[in-house]
Amino acid sequence: MTDKKDLLDLEAEELKSELAALGEKPFRAGQIWKWLYAGELDFREMTNLPLDLRETLSERYRAGGLRIRDKLTSNVDGTRKYLFELDDGNIIEGVLMQYHYGYSACLSTQVGCRMGCGFCASSPLGFIRNLTKGEILGQILCMTHDINDRISHVVLMGIGEPFDNYENVVGFLRRINREDTLNISFRKMTVSTCGIVPGILRFANEGFPVNLSVSLHAPNDEIREKIMPIARRWPMDELLAACNEYARITSRRVTYEYALIRDVNDSAGHAEELAGRLKYTLCHVNLIPVNRVEGAGYDRSSRERVETFRAVLERKGIAVTVRRELGTDIMAACGQLRRDTLLRSGKV
Ligand code: SAH
Repeated sequence: MTDKKDLLDLEAEELKSELAALGEKPFRAGQIWKWLYAGELDFREMTNLPLDLRETLSERYRAGGLRIRDKLTSNVDGTRKYLFELDDGNIIEGVLMQYHYGYSACLSTQVGCRMGCGFCASSPLGFIRNLTKGEILGQILCMTHDINDRISHVVLMGIGEPFDNYENVVGFLRRINREDTLNISFRKMTVSTCGIVPGILRFANEGFPVNLSVSLHAPNDEIREKIMPIARRWPMDELLAACNEYARITSRRVTYEYALIRDVNDSAGHAEELAGRLKYTLCHVNLIPVNRVEGAGYDRSSRERVETFRAVLERKGIAVTVRRELGTDIMAACGQLRRDTLLRSGKV
């Protein structure tokens, strides 16, 4: 682990002070800032800076402190999966998807996760640490550099629970919104949470229209508690009330993620119950046939079950989609590549 200061952790003014302390003029800070947010994280490649300054920067600082250790590109749809290695040797992953409206980056917020959802690839691997703001930024900037194109959408749905790393996540979102960084509109950002109620309420009052996605995965507390430990902390009534508050304050429709697990939460009765809970709320349900994780003991629902579930919600007037699966040939689903890499290297 290096103890080099991360220039991506700094705000524009802080970068100026840092350079002033090196005896550099303010415009140098502006040049560096421009390079960083164009995706150039290697100080030695910042060709309009004097050579000795590039040297000094490389010796004393880092930018993101991560490197692309592995990259897989889907032959099916072009989805790219990145495995990043951090300065301390830990690994995380991110996914870049291409849609008709532009590129969307799915990023990690923590090394591991402590939420313990039963169906998730990250749970058995435990929690190691939060990512810094610079490391979250580093992921999207590495991707920008790699494709040499603009990324227009960001979803925090990679490894980790965003509201368990609240400050760095919000700092990251505000940073990429700036015109002089990535200029990504708040409406094109999505944060996904397993349901940390105080986090949702605090987020509602940040004053930005970021989309909220909530991993619900069950129509009632009994089932939810079986698959998501967080449900024991905040029951569904409280969770849905917080989500409604989020929708009221931000005027954004909340998305509920619902992973369909065979014989656990996928019957027509479950769909009826869910529709009842979500009636009259500003929401949208996204159905995902669960991705199998070795050893978790959960199977995905049949196509017919998924279709019936969707039809019931639709009939009840709930906006619903079945998630289009991208990158299935490259383990693009959250946490799978990291897990596979750790297992193969005998690290767990
Ligand atoms: N901690 C956050 C974000 C990371 S998980 C959250 O819980 O929302 C991103 C999404 O992938 C969540 O909706 C999560 O429930 C879902 N997910 C995790 N494992 C999955 C699996 N095996 N199959 C389908 N979806 C899964």
